[in-house]
Amino acid sequence: MLIGGIEAGGTKFVCAVGDEFGNIIDKTTFPTEDPDKTLDATKAFFSKHAIQSLGVGSFGPVDLNKDSETYGYILNTPKLKWKQYNLLGRLKQDFDIPITLDTDVNAAALGEYKYGVAKNAKSVLYITVGTGIGAGFVKDGQTFIGKSHPEMGHIIIQQRKNDDFEGICPYHGNCLEGLASGPAIEQRYGKKGHLLGTDHAAWELEADYLAQAITNYLLILSPEKVIIGGGVMKQEQLYPLIRKRVSELSNGYMELNNLEEIIVAPTLNDEQGIKGAIALTL
Ligand code: ADP
Ligand code: ZN
Repeated sequence: MLIGGIEAGGTKFVCAVGDEFGNIIDKTTFPTEDPDKTLDATKAFFSKHAIQSLGVGSFGPVDLNKDSETYGYILNTPKLKWKQYNLLGRLKQDFDIPITLDTDVNAAALGEYKYGVAKNAKSVLYITVGTGIGAGFVKDGQTFIGKSHPEMGHIIIQQRKNDDFEGICPYHGNCLEGLASGPAIEQRYGKKGHLLGTDHAAWELEADYLAQAITNYLLILSPEKVIIGGGVMKQEQLYPLIRKRVSELSNGYMELNNLEEIIVAPTLNDEQGIKGAIALTL
């Protein structure tokens, strides 16, 4: 069975054709430009393949409330040409097959759940720390959506007393995303994260804020695995720093004696999102 998948990111679109076993047969990547140009390229790619269904993991915020008049629309994005864009409507016009829409992070969580590091877990939280911060949750093979999708990157964090950075979230200033996303690091230190040394004090602070969030997610969702991906997590020294801080914050309350196995990196080499998008249709 041929299945189409789209990882619709704010920076790039990945389109792929695969099967129900996680194999990718054909794949292409192109930059996210204005909606028409981007969706024309998407249509052209899939016209070469007889796909029977299509799964889409989209950047957001995207309206996933099926009762809403704007179901399937991109909502309040800073990418102005995409604001209030009817993504699902356009895809339905182009493809007369069943389409499943979800968030990019739910798709990535599902990819790692089915084929990656969370293969043997019943529940997994996938966090991305990149241009923004977001998280997706899968339990027993189902992605979690509430009324619409959760926004776990915008939670409130206890800022350190000696940290007077105001944060960059346009809505909340110093929410998690405002303090700890890639652009927040760049704004705080005046250069991009990959230009800071691996022993820079930035990483200990970054690990503290991410660990606060992860402690809260562990308390609320109790996932078996917590996968942290995204560009900022290329700084691999963050993983041990985060585990140490989560352990301190939990302070023995949660049973977390194998944090190396609970808090981990993705393992699908940046294909977790696209493999998960395909798996959304299964
Ligand atoms: P996106 O979130 O747009 O899909 P990424 O996950 O690649 O893309 O995240 C991009 C962000 O990650 C940028 O802010 C970038 O500065 C940061 N980033 C990318 N690589 C690194 C690195 N090696 N070290 C620290 N930060 C990085
Ligand atoms: Zn925010």
